[in-house]
Amino acid sequence: MFRSLTEIDDLLKKHNDYRDSCLNLIASENCASSTVRGYLNTKLSNRYGCYESMHPENREYTGNKFIHQFEMEVQELVGEIFKAPLVDLRPIGGHISGVATVLGTLQPGELLFEIHLKDWGHGLVGPMLEAPQFRETIRIESIPYSDHMIDLDKLISMIYEKKPRLIIFGSSGMLFPEPIKEIKAITEKEGIILAMDSSHINGLIAGGVFPNPLEEGVDIMFGSLHKTFPGPEGGFILAKDPKLFKRIGDIMSSALVTSHHLYRLPALAAAMLEMKQFGKAYGEQVIKNARALGKAMDELGFKVVAADRGYTSTHLILVDVTEFGGCKKVARQLEAANVLCSDDFGQLDKEIRIGTAEVTRRGMKETEMKTVAEFFKRVLMGNESSSFIAQKVKEFSSSYSHCDFGF
Ligand SMILES: *Cc1c(COP(=O)(O)O)cnc(C)c1O
Repeated sequence: MFRSLTEIDDLLKKHNDYRDSCLNLIASENCASSTVRGYLNTKLSNRYGCYESMHPENREYTGNKFIHQFEMEVQELVGEIFKAPLVDLRPIGGHISGVATVLGTLQPGELLFEIHLKDWGHGLVGPMLEAPQFRETIRIESIPYSDHMIDLDKLISMIYEKKPRLIIFGSSGMLFPEPIKEIKAITEKEGIILAMDSSHINGLIAGGVFPNPLEEGVDIMFGSLHKTFPGPEGGFILAKDPKLFKRIGDIMSSALVTSHHLYRLPALAAAMLEMKQFGKAYGEQVIKNARALGKAMDELGFKVVAADRGYTSTHLILVDVTEFGGCKKVARQLEAANVLCSDDFGQLDKEIRIGTAEVTRRGMKETEMKTVAEFFKRVLMGNESSSFIAQKVKEFSSSYSHCDFGF
């Protein structure tokens, strides 16, 4: 139990020092610039800005004159960067933005397709079926995957056979763009809503280094803004059709969110401006680093997924670590050596996921990726103790403490 501010400060310092000494390769994390973090400390916290979808000018609370202006300015900026006519910033995270999309688009008993957890899907709707009332009303099928890509032919025949109402693309382990254009022609004809969970790749989309799903034809795009997009924690929903946008927004607020955490807005605006200025250079380097790391690990004898396809077109690579005892064990072994990455969250116990967003912002380039790959080799194929390697990782990491591509 904390008894004083000093104790809070001490623990915070421990956390910061520890994480600064680690190589953070967790693909769903990033470092916001100190400028962006600075904007989190404003008097917009403890304020309410509730509004009804499509009528943001009618705020429920009094005292909202500048809050309204603030939110509209950020919405416009987000709309410009993501080429989205309609923007909802009320989701306080990526997950809730997806839940609102599902609940706002499906009628009881209708079917949706999403990517299964074992194929690095996020598990947006699957876990909702733990609740009996959702089991009665939402039906799910998994999007067919093979070799880490959507199996287009199978998906097309599944669409005609099963007639889903909603298809959600996007996962937590996306290596390549998904076949939006190819599926769009069919979903349009069949009256199916096509959505993209862009949580992982929003920073790459903002930088223009990954195809923009909205431009490619999805009806709805939603997701987190704190992964490759280096903003404050939060999410968004983007759309083109006002009717669909309103239905989702009406579920979002006030069924799922009432306070939408206005304190995020200034920091989000600052992060958007950063991405407007540095997004392209940032995104290009993130992808170059991911490919360089894939190649370096491949050359050291690791089984890097999609080696025959250039490893990745995103910020992450996947490595099959079955031979080292599975991803759960391996991720903990790496953690003991201050190397942080992700296991597959209880699925096949096969692949680790390694992301390059944060290390890129901290100043690493292709050359450093070779050193990073060497650390994996030392932990998994060598015989040094993990505490010794941890010390070496700490020395290496501490020289990359800047935050590039930011103000
Ligand atoms: C991280 C993630 C989410 C959840 O986002 P939060 O911001 O953590 O709520 C949703 N979908 C995908 C694909 C993700 O990777």
